[in-house]
Amino acid sequence: MIARRSNIRRIAAALPAVLLISSTAASASNPRSRVMLVSFDGLRADVVTDERMPVLANLARNGAIAVECLNECPPVTLVNHASMVTGLRVVRHGVLLNTDLPGFIAWPTIFDVAAANGLRVGFFAGKSKLGYLCRPESAVVRTILGDSQELAAAAEAAIESQDLDLVFFHFPEPDVTGHRDGWMSPQYLDAASRMDALFGCLVEALARAGVGGQTLIIVTADHGGLGRSHAFDIPVVRRIPFILHGPGIAPGQRLERRRSVVDAAAVAADRLGLVMEDIDGTLDGLPFPAVFAPCFPPGDVVSWLFASCGAMPIGWLAADSTLIIAMRGRTRIRPWRSLWRRAGLDRLAPGMPGKDVRP
Ligand SMILES: [Zn+2]
Repeated sequence: MIARRSNIRRIAAALPAVLLISSTAASASNPRSRVMLVSFDGLRADVVTDERMPVLANLARNGAIAVECLNECPPVTLVNHASMVTGLRVVRHGVLLNTDLPGFIAWPTIFDVAAANGLRVGFFAGKSKLGYLCRPESAVVRTILGDSQELAAAAEAAIESQDLDLVFFHFPEPDVTGHRDGWMSPQYLDAASRMDALFGCLVEALARAGVGGQTLIIVTADHGGLGRSHAFDIPVVRRIPFILHGPGIAPGQRLERRRSVVDAAAVAADRLGLVMEDIDGTLDGLPFPAVFAPCFPPGDVVSWLFASCGAMPIGWLAADSTLIIAMRGRTRIRPWRSLWRRAGLDRLAPGMPGKDVRP
């Protein structure tokens, strides 16, 4: 099931003009390819600017950035992180609910495959539901903490002491703040800036550990948001960032082909010399360097049409909402109008269900 292609392990190439990463003597003597996969929960693609997230923007400028990357529908956290770490679309991994689930995901994740091949995995998540995606035996460090600052400190310590080949880090804040104060609110943008600074600390930790020059950094997200919600199949919810930076990535590249969250696992596996095989023997995500392919093959057009135009499955919304309400012990089902108001959409979308129309 799980194999490794040692021949595609790459020696770190000359590092592009990098902001924080420096090649060191340690990396020269131990040229292992490493990966840090970072997910900003709820980060809209249009938030990544020099003013709001200078570290990430600089990383993108000195690496490769997708002109457009879409998440999976339903556009929620666990569903998309499952795609991110399995390389499978939602119809194949089958993780449809967005809540704490018992046990672990059935499909092999990038963590399982890495561990099975003797690589050292560090898993750092800001929400307990993501624990479903990483079996304890697949990570030498597995930390789940709601406080991003504490989580980043734990990751920095592990990066410097645990000789990790694969680091997964999940920032919960953009999503948490979006639900509380609204996407693109001053509070949300402030949270994005604070997470950007913490992300910079992780990059610095790689440099301190002497592995900055060997590490491919993949940055993406699970969904964006509008108002106080992300349960809608609309562009500001579906579009997420997809950024690559590290050895072998020339500065200033643009991934012209529309990318997907499922590419993250394929790119990471390829860089680590791993082969991830599922029941059909293929991933849905494109590996490196196929992510740089400039063309738009017919298959992508079809998936784009589905991804862009497909309506949010009403059945999923009903099932997931019912489960969450039941699990929280709520007996009162709020009417649609009230939900719309709570999501803050009445202020943003005049004339929609929650809006009181006044002259
Ligand atoms: Zn959310």
